[in-house]
Parts: sequence; structure tokens; C-alpha cells
Amino acid sequence: MIQQTLVLVKPDGVKRGLIGEIISRFEKRGLKIVGIKMVQVDPDFSKKHYSAHVAKSFYKNLEKFITSGPVVAMAIEGIDAVEVVRKIVGSTEPKSAPVGTIRGDFAHVSLNYADSKGKSAENLIHASGNKEEAEQEVSLWFSIDELHSYKLSYEDHVM
Ligand code: GDP
Ligand code: MG
Repeated sequence: MIQQTLVLVKPDGVKRGLIGEIISRFEKRGLKIVGIKMVQVDPDFSKKHYSAHVAKSFYKNLEKFITSGPVVAMAIEGIDAVEVVRKIVGSTEPKSAPVGTIRGDFAHVSLNYADSKGKSAENLIHASGNKEEAEQEVSLWFSIDELHSYKLSYEDHVM
């Protein structure tokens, strides 16, 4: 039941000064940050992270986007964390993402509009899509000694 999942604040979120705002949404929900670092992704690493998308039409623009500046990578832990984090993040297309989600509150671009501009949809954040993806992505981005084990104070009196 306790899962770890990978979250990235993408280059647009870093450049817009939204790192703190984004992290605080996970903290306020009671999720635990067990790993965190700033990383400049290169094309080789992008192809590993987005291996499922490399053959897709939008991949070239996606690689340009994800390598356009540093990202903040986090391993986040909690009860069914993969699903809970995806809910906080919202759906892929900012235009369609519900208000109250990160993508729905801080962006509104449509996939069609981004495609027409030859750009990847700048949607601020990456979050693993399912349990298998999460396990694979956490181990791709973090070594064992970069993942930490500790108790949040609320675990002592709530859980
Ligand atoms: P996610 O899991 O919600 O991030 O979505 P995906 O794994 O399907 O796609 C990875 C990323 O590629 C998305 O977050 C977008 O930045 C971008 N992307 C996905 N689909 C499209 C598309 O149809 N057009 C454009 N321009 N970008 C896309
Ligand atoms: Mg995905």
C-alpha cells in the first residue's frame, strides 16, 4: 500500500518560480518527500526516461522541452502515492485539467495549440503513470543512498 512515485518539476515550472508552490501541494496532502535534487537532463537520459514515447510524433518536441533547463526531481512516498500524486497533478492537457490540480491551476495550453507551435505541451510537472512506471522511474532517477527513510511528525499521532 505504501508506494514511492517519481515527480519532476519540469523546466517551465522551475523557470516560472513554482518549485515551492508545487512541492507544498504534496507536503500539505501529507505525502513524504524521500528524495530530491535538481538535474539538467540530456538527450540520452530523456530517451531513457521517456522510453515509452521515443517513437511517438511528439517525442522530438518533448525532448527539446525536458532538456531546455533544469528539473527538480522528487521521490514521493505515501499510501497509494502513484494514484494520489496523479490526482494532485491533473490530466496531461492543461486546458482540460480540473481546477484545483497543479496543471489546472497554473497552465491552460491545449495539446493541439502546442502541436501547432511545434512545442511540447508545457504542463509543469511529470508524475509516474502507474505502479510499474513508478518503480522503474524512481530507480532510474535515484540511487539507493539518495532515498531517505524518516517519519513525518503526523505519523506518530495519526497513523
Ligand atoms: P503525462 O504522463 O500526463 O505527463 O503524459 P504522457 O506520458 O502521455 O506524455 C508525456 C508528456 O509529453 C506530457 O506531459 C506532455 O508534456 C507531452 N505530450 C503528451 N502528449 C502530447 C501531445 O499530443 N502534444 C504535445 N504537444 N505534447 C504532448
Ligand atoms: Mg506519462
